[in-house]
This record gives sequence, C-alpha cells and structure tokens, in this order.
Amino acid sequence: MITIANEQLNEIREHGVRDHPYECCGLLLGRFSAEGKIVQETYPISNAREESAKRNRFLITPEELMRGERYARGRDLEVVGFYHSHPDCPAVPSQYDLEHAWPTYSYIIVSTTADEARDLFSWEQAGSVEIQSGRNPRNPRLKSQRVKLCQSQSQYRRR
Ligand SMILES: [Zn+2]
Repeated sequence: MITIANEQLNEIREHGVRDHPYECCGLLLGRFSAEGKIVQETYPISNAREESAKRNRFLITPEELMRGERYARGRDLEVVGFYHSHPDCPAVPSQYDLEHAWPTYSYIIVSTTADEARDLFSWEQAGSVEIQSGRNPRNPRLKSQRVKLCQSQSQYRRR
C-alpha cells in the first residue's frame, strides 16, 4: 500500500517529461507505517549519465542512493520506493524491472512522451498493483508474469 499526493505524482510526471527521451529516475521519500508507505517527497536523480549507466536503465548508483538516504535522514524520512519513466512506452514493468525489484519498496512507473505524461503505475514486488491511472491504464498481472513487457530499454536515443 502506498499513499502519495497528487503533488508528488505530478512532480514525477514533470520529471519524466523533462528528461524525455531519456528515462528519468528518482527516490520516493517518506515513512513506513502500519497502513503502508506514505510518500512525502520525491527526490529526482538525473539520468544524464554515462553509457554504462544508460545500459543499466534506471539503475541508481550506490553513491546516488546513499546521497538520497542521507538527505532523507536529515529530514527524518526514509527511502520507501523508486520511480522511473518509460519514454514512449506504456507504464508496465519490464522484465528488468520485475527482476530487480526489492521487497517492501514501491515502484512507480510513468509513461512519457515529449509533451506529456500518460499512464502511471505503481507496484510492489509482492505483485500488488497500487496505482493505475492515466488515459490508457493497463492491467498487467504481475503475479502470473503475464505482463506485457516494455521494450523501452532499447529506445535510448541521443539527440
Ligand atoms: Zn522500467
């Protein structure tokens, strides 16, 4: 379960459109509570990185994660999840996304074009879909792995 306000969702959408055609990524900062995760801030991480990082898609380097965790601690928050964008591709977890998800965290994916954010999707490794919104919501069945896989990883382009 994740609780996140429209303000933070819009920050994620805007970050995704800003970084298009690249994937953006960032941290979800907040608190773990009995009712699930409560997101209070987003922590954008730039994707303007070197070739190896691009091949690793939205992989956040340990240094970036540590910097984000330090920032969160300073504000009495924790990292409760991650977000990234799928440029020109639906907000459906890729095989890579599924294989690299850690337990307990939430993962938000936003589909972007050059002009706008489209569908948005949040999920946990346990297979629960948390948020589905946008003009073109999908209904992937994470548990059965019958997910329509996103090929956005091959779509990195340099302008
Ligand atoms: Zn992805």
